[in-house]
Amino acid sequence: MSYTTEQLKNFTKIGKKIIGAGLNYKELVKLSKQPAPKTPIIFLKPTSAYITEGSSIEIYPDSHVNEEVELGVIIGRKGRNISVADAMSHVGGYCLGLDMTEISIINECQAKGLPWALGKGFDTACPVSRFISCDEIQDPGNLQLWLKVNGKTFQDSNTSDMLFSIPELISYVSKYITLEEGDMILTGSPPGFDRVQPGDVIEAGIGNILAMKFPVKART
Ligand code: MG
Repeated sequence: MSYTTEQLKNFTKIGKKIIGAGLNYKELVKLSKQPAPKTPIIFLKPTSAYITEGSSIEIYPDSHVNEEVELGVIIGRKGRNISVADAMSHVGGYCLGLDMTEISIINECQAKGLPWALGKGFDTACPVSRFISCDEIQDPGNLQLWLKVNGKTFQDSNTSDMLFSIPELISYVSKYITLEEGDMILTGSPPGFDRVQPGDVIEAGIGNILAMKFPVKART
């Protein structure tokens, strides 16, 4: 099964998985005071976590949810054991994504050595922009990513600060998981993310290429 660029616009419906990369910005590694990962830190979100503009991010009571702005890479051609050299030929397009993260679950589970799936996979944990075709992006390794909450800038960085590049992430993941058309890789967040509350409005963008907006409300 192969999808055209036109069909890939529906990646949130046809993709089977959302693959996240943690701690993938050099500046974030520096601030975290953790050693730089030797290989990518990979996690999954269910595709049921997707929302698109017009919907709200829902957070549950007493949660500590951070917003993380990230470039999403949409797979356009199926592959496994993809080489770094060949990786970009598997990219069908991009999106801007928010890797919403319930950090208290992550911290508690990490400390106990338990899985932290709920901290990344809750409903609405993956807001995304419209699909961006490859033609719209000259160099995915040099894009400004920015994020504001209630008009105040929290994140302003560039994809050039990624620790593992887009081809390296694709190649690494595909050694274990077959990447299929419509799947998305969230490539990690630069620092600056912070806790959001019901009533907040998150705006994020890629330079002047696009901007998106998501309100935050309480989950009922
Ligand atoms: Mg993230």
